Amino acid sequence: MLSRRSILAGLATAPLMSTRAFAAEPLNVVATTGMIADAARAIGGDLVTVQALMGPGVDPHGYRQTRSDIVAMTRADLLLWNGLYLEAQLEHFIETLAKRVPVVAVGDAIPQDVLLHHADYENRPDPHVWMAPQLWKHAVVATRDALIAQRPEAADTFAANADIYLADVARVGAYAETSTAQVPEPSRVLVTAHDAFGYFGRQFGFEVMGIQGISTDSEAGLQRIRTLVDDIVTRKISAVFVESSVSDRNIRALIEGAAAQGHEVKIGGELFSDAMGEPGSYEGTYVGMIDHNVSVIAGALGADVPPGGMDGKLSHGV
Ligand code: ZN
Repeated sequence: MLSRRSILAGLATAPLMSTRAFAAEPLNVVATTGMIADAARAIGGDLVTVQALMGPGVDPHGYRQTRSDIVAMTRADLLLWNGLYLEAQLEHFIETLAKRVPVVAVGDAIPQDVLLHHADYENRPDPHVWMAPQLWKHAVVATRDALIAQRPEAADTFAANADIYLADVARVGAYAETSTAQVPEPSRVLVTAHDAFGYFGRQFGFEVMGIQGISTDSEAGLQRIRTLVDDIVTRKISAVFVESSVSDRNIRALIEGAAAQGHEVKIGGELFSDAMGEPGSYEGTYVGMIDHNVSVIAGALGADVPPGGMDGKLSHGV
């Protein structure tokens, strides 16, 4: 028969043992952009907590770390960032942090030979790799592998969750192919506030024209705006697009410039270029963000897209 003392000892030690064996603290992951955080959340499930530094409407090109960001990054078990010089102002801090905290640039997983380069962005690739789901899958795999490296015992769970997530990414990629394919050939021009849609354009067959270049850190010149206005008028472009993370001032200048030459061009909608929608909303997920962009672009440029997008989940309809 067990003594009272040994029963108490058993009660005291049992939960402790199970805590050690099965319920380690969730891995504390910090991600710079919402797109990366979404992948980490989906793959990590209950085994991770994920904080995104940049919320809706935040422009990553000029983003500087706040005090609370520094605390979060310093305390993280894993920091995930895009790299490819997207988070230009954070780069120095993150490089220093990498001596103490595991840091992975998921954009580095995109094969070098498919990266785009632009004349106005010397020696640096276009960092907007999430815009083509067919490319972004490499960053998702890198996110999975980074989580596995920190929690090898959960590798099977992370791999299974990643497979589900990758299937969703592939599905929205297929939806993007079929919806954009309906846009008539002369209308396959995407005019936006900055050059965030290069990979989208290459994947889905659109010519892209950004008012500002790859980064938003330089102002667009008047000459650039004049050239674009002339293009819009001569090619009878019917719609241009604003972006949730960039001021719409330049886009409005295009519309006014075209109007002065007697050509009416409308705003085709607001796109999520470098930041996703509100957390908790469909557009606040990677799949929802791409669904939104594709449905808005294809719909405004002449395709017959389903109301509410791929699954009828878009909040504003298209
Ligand atoms: Zn950008």
